[in-house]
Amino acid sequence: SQLMSVSETEIIRSLFIKGIAATVTQTLDVDTATKVAEEMGILVDHVEEQSAATKVTEMLDADDLENLHRRPPVVTIMGHVDHGKTSLLDAIRKTKVASGEAGGITQHIGAYHVDVDHNGATQQVVFLDTPGHEAFTAMRARGARVTDVAILVVAADDGVQPQTIEAISHAKAAGVPMIVAINKVDKEDSQPDRVKQELTEHGLVPEEWGGDAVMVPVSAITGQNLDTLLDMILLVTEVEDLNANPNRLAKGTVIEAHLDKAKGPVATLLVQNGTLHVGDILVAGSALGKVRAMVDDRGQRVKQASPSYAVEVLGLSDVPAAGDEFDVYNDEKEARSIATGRADEQRQSRLMAAISSRRVSLNTLSSKAQEGDLKELNIVMKADVQGSVEAILGSLKQLPQGEVQVRVLFAAPGEISETDVDLAAASEAVLIGFNTTLAPGARQSADRLGVDVREYNIIYALLDDIQAAMEGLLEPEL
Ligand code: GDP
Repeated sequence: SQLMSVSETEIIRSLFIKGIAATVTQTLDVDTATKVAEEMGILVDHVEEQSAATKVTEMLDADDLENLHRRPPVVTIMGHVDHGKTSLLDAIRKTKVASGEAGGITQHIGAYHVDVDHNGATQQVVFLDTPGHEAFTAMRARGARVTDVAILVVAADDGVQPQTIEAISHAKAAGVPMIVAINKVDKEDSQPDRVKQELTEHGLVPEEWGGDAVMVPVSAITGQNLDTLLDMILLVTEVEDLNANPNRLAKGTVIEAHLDKAKGPVATLLVQNGTLHVGDILVAGSALGKVRAMVDDRGQRVKQASPSYAVEVLGLSDVPAAGDEFDVYNDEKEARSIATGRADEQRQSRLMAAISSRRVSLNTLSSKAQEGDLKELNIVMKADVQGSVEAILGSLKQLPQGEVQVRVLFAAPGEISETDVDLAAASEAVLIGFNTTLAPGARQSADRLGVDVREYNIIYALLDDIQAAMEGLLEPEL
């Protein structure tokens, strides 16, 4: 419904006509959803979900295949607010880092790694410690793929909640395997079985009930079963091709970045292939840089970072965005020209965004009126005949004009032309058509420039909408 900008009711009606009685919370299979969408004039493209294995190869070139080494899994923690994401991240970090390390000084850089005993050997697991799937979603929206496993935290005393369901869909869409941590089992009112039952309704069936979802009851407060959870991460990722070639120029993703008053731009880079060294020349997003210094999650200065490790890097010219890709280059000239090219692209897209953010519609004007921010409501109008033009102008004049004045910039008989659209765009006006049509190209032009074209064939409907907008009473746009 959201993607197609079609109301849920319309979808349900279309299903009903097909003999399918669906409710608003029901999930449709792909074929049915496609049919409905196509009926609404929307072309549907089927994209296969990315499997974890192909995700890895995106960072790998053919040359790397000769030189692959196992790398640690990178884990994200997701789940509903207050279910214990932060507590779990802190608990894992404390038990695994502070105790073993001299001084136990840790530094928040957006990711940390822990040592885990698995099958008699010590292995590493890397956690992205920006909890919440906002970060995950933002990175995915930019096409970045950084996680190998998602831990879905569900509080045993609260069960599956809206953001739990959201997290499940995000992980599924990204093709990232999930491990469920049923948290807060130390609480008296905890009901782990109820959580399992609820998760089953969302396609996650626990192993002990014959499914394939790994679920571990844990407590971030008492530390119960945290070792099992860590072990499970390694077990689940054992079958994934978590490989990279450490003997090449580094590439990966920006996890976090900010401007430090003293140090300049600071970025945490997750190395996904190759090895990053101090002195390397790199481009991150549109920022050019030469790695001046690197600090790891334990606050230690390091000289290099291998695949799956994150380091805070100093020496960038600019602050990149989380989710930007970075690449190391041999040649400074090449790096500079790539950075400049990207900066130009960014300027372009910012310009486009600025233009489209000026979009005016009767609904946005109405919201402005409600907030008392609207003085004039600009209108460009086309109608079938001169008589209609005059009738409408006369009626508009009679609308109560208190806080907001109606200003008709142009009104004439005829069809709505591209010139009318341009005028409306330039003057932030709403374009009204009464008993008339749009000239070829006018619709596309209006979409491109973000002009709200409203077509009417009943004067009262037109006047009602305008009056409602002036009074700030139109429903806000969805
Ligand atoms: P987040 O919003 O998912 O990051 O949740 P937090 O980590 O901030 O935890 C929310 C609240 O739940 C805090 O008051 C925590 O102390 C509490 N909490 C988290 N994990 C546990 C747990 O295992 N047991 C109990 N009893 N409380 C917990």
